[in-house]
Amino acid sequence: MIVTKQRTLSIVKPDATKRNLTGSVVAMLEAGGLSVVAQRRVRLSEAQARAFYAVHKDRPFYEALVAFMTSEPVVVQVLEGEDAVKKNREIMGATDPKEADEGTIRAALGMSLEANSVHGSDSPENAEKEIAFFFAGCELLD
Ligand code: ADP
Ligand code: MG
Repeated sequence: MIVTKQRTLSIVKPDATKRNLTGSVVAMLEAGGLSVVAQRRVRLSEAQARAFYAVHKDRPFYEALVAFMTSEPVVVQVLEGEDAVKKNREIMGATDPKEADEGTIRAALGMSLEANSVHGSDSPENAEKEIAFFFAGCELLD
């Protein structure tokens, strides 16, 4: 069988970095079979947060989401593995921690629907766009 590696964009959100849970999040991603191939801790500007979540700009939670994502540093990272986009979403769990399956990051660490500890790209197409949003090609290993 040919195993095709895929990459996805992951963010450790402010609620997790603030509680010193970056390592806990990464450990769960690694235990699930994903590898970190690029990683940077950054305080998002308002403009960056608005642009990154532009798809949600007409949703009622958009302004609060932008404020939350700029409230503390985040860790942006590229994950690699087989079926990485889907696998990352599985390891993350449902958007609302109350609805997330046991053993997922959001069930274990999430605080609320907004402060749910992690972001993950939702499709291979968006993964490519989101990786390019945060990382230059020269920062990514082959
Ligand atoms: P996901 O992060 O699971 O892909 P969405 O793309 O729908 O979820 O939403 C992006 C982020 O916006 C969520 O992770 C969460 O932080 C926040 N969010 C989503 N829906 C709500 C909501 N109804 N109220 C507050 N925040 C929300
Ligand atoms: Mg999403």
